[in-house]
Amino acid sequence: MTAPATPAPSARRLRTRAALLAVLGEHGTLSRTEISRLTGLSRSAVSSAVTDLLDEGLVSETTATAATAAGRGRRAAAVTLRRAHALVLAFDFGHTHVTAAVADTSGTLLGEATAHLDVDNHPREVLEAAETLARQALDAAGHRLDEITAIAAGIPGALDTRTNVVRAPSTLSQWIGMDPAAELGRVFDRPVTVGNDAEMGARGERAHGTGRTVNDLVYVKASTGIGAGLLLDGRIYRGASGISGEIGHIQLPDTGTWCRCGNRGCLESVASIVEVRRRLAHVLAPGARPGEHVDLPPLDRLADIPAAARVIGEAGRTIGRVLADLVNCLNPAAIVIGGELGQAGAPLVHGIRESVDRYAQPAVAEAVEIRASRLGLRSELYGAIDAAVAVAVGG
Ligand SMILES: [Zn+2]
Repeated sequence: MTAPATPAPSARRLRTRAALLAVLGEHGTLSRTEISRLTGLSRSAVSSAVTDLLDEGLVSETTATAATAAGRGRRAAAVTLRRAHALVLAFDFGHTHVTAAVADTSGTLLGEATAHLDVDNHPREVLEAAETLARQALDAAGHRLDEITAIAAGIPGALDTRTNVVRAPSTLSQWIGMDPAAELGRVFDRPVTVGNDAEMGARGERAHGTGRTVNDLVYVKASTGIGAGLLLDGRIYRGASGISGEIGHIQLPDTGTWCRCGNRGCLESVASIVEVRRRLAHVLAPGARPGEHVDLPPLDRLADIPAAARVIGEAGRTIGRVLADLVNCLNPAAIVIGGELGQAGAPLVHGIRESVDRYAQPAVAEAVEIRASRLGLRSELYGAIDAAVAVAVGG
């Protein structure tokens, strides 16, 4: 980092500025009196912060000369956030990583930072790490936290939309009962929008990925868990309590493998990335002892290795068996496969296609396009960026 040309603003001044951007992000246009009332800041503190924001071009202010339509009195001067200049902060919480990103309202990623952590078992540490990662992403983007208008995050678990609290079934056993939006809100001292990771993935694909032209899309996050984000008729569908899309716990016939949810034969007990890696290790390193660590090539390099492509194709057919039923129910235009397993590309997509063609009704099978995500592992991150931008632009 190069040294700033001007002295760094005081912590109090930064907090004041952040508070102004937060209320303007929520309301768009406010008078100075309203800003003072909503933030609890003094008129002089508001005035000084508005002057700073005007100098930086982040807000505009109308003059107080216009009469009302009824011709009575004068309107108070209004401060308006210049939304095109707003910046957002987004988080993607996976089971073993956290990524923070800074973006502008066009969704352009300006800075990013990732840490690999045991997210499932250490929620407090992970929330603390989020603050550090946010600062790293902001440094990479050349911006400061007080310039951020809105924050959103995707978490890898079932979030009850009635209460905002993490619920079972979930891999986040240590998170159950927690309110991640409130926790992150305390860390960053402002409101934070939180959603399920697969929902964020669907949102990311719609906004920036392969789903830009469709209104009915199923996004599948196929990683340690397998979950679906549903975009139906152009809107994210969360269900009555926000826990839609738990396809990883749909039972397959003829499968007796125990699942971490306590049932046998769930999809993710046989087709998670953990299971696929175990089988790949078996075919690519046949001499390895059970449980021995084997370094595998990246999943996108396995299409030309017949034994590995078979393992991935089989996982695709297994996932496709469940997706065929979903296709019968929902008649989507596109299924986008993301998550770590989505990186496997063609052999996985061909396997899914085979099962959808075999088990779904011909007319609905024909109507659905099945693709691997082109956003790499960033579908969820782009979804969180999109969710934050929606708040920043008043969506
Ligand atoms: Zn299960």
